[in-house]
Amino acid sequence: MIIRKKLIAGNWKMNKTPADGVALVTELVAALGKQTDVDVVVCPPFTGLESAAKALDGSTIKLGAQNMHFEASGAFTGEVSAPMLRAIFATHVILGHSERRTLFGEQDAFINKKVIAALKNQLRPILCVGETLAEREAGTTLKVVQTQVEAGLEGVSKEQAATVVIAYEPVWAIGTGKVATTDQAQEVHAYIRGLLVKLFGDAVAQKVRILYGGSMKPANAPELLSQKDIDGGLIGGASLEARSFTDLVKSAAAVK
Ligand code: PEP
Repeated sequence: MIIRKKLIAGNWKMNKTPADGVALVTELVAALGKQTDVDVVVCPPFTGLESAAKALDGSTIKLGAQNMHFEASGAFTGEVSAPMLRAIFATHVILGHSERRTLFGEQDAFINKKVIAALKNQLRPILCVGETLAEREAGTTLKVVQTQVEAGLEGVSKEQAATVVIAYEPVWAIGTGKVATTDQAQEVHAYIRGLLVKLFGDAVAQKVRILYGGSMKPANAPELLSQKDIDGGLIGGASLEARSFTDLVKSAAAVK
């Protein structure tokens, strides 16, 4: 049986100046910078990436971006590319976050191009999928997630797929304080694992980390993280403060 190392990723969204980010990262490095039990990633806004990279240097904490364009360069005002992110030592990139999908109109085919570009540039995509409240109430959760996973990973090879991270984030649980029950979350995570088996085979599917995201906090993390197919968390609000983020990493480390 493959033991997947847990991964805790902090999505800072549009929060923190570079100086605020360095202050937070400095605290995180002091608390977590040497541990290797859990993979830890912080995702500051673009303006804070380079200074965060310097503050993370020499620690085990990795750097991620929150978005990118699929082209390497060109006339795409306001955008940032995978090679640019690699040049400042980012290793991960969040793609298809529900805020990008709903507020900025990103669709599956567009997100898929980014996934392909990230992989081509040795960036690990954290591909976000999840249903809205209306979709859950209509009983279409699994169908929605299936479409997002299949379309998001189209054209990805087996070898590449093993490096992808998927974040299941029910949209109704993001930033709302409402958390999916462990049964609700595990059901969707197991379903995603099954989809990955069909798409890439069992050996690859067993390697892919599937994170839960949606109001994960130190209080609810231990139960969620102890589920068979929940391999970590994508954390919004609770990643903005060193104490809560550190406690989440410790919760992940404590799960046997
Ligand atoms: C997120 O935006 O990815 C997220 C999970 O946010 P929160 O933890 O604040 O719900």
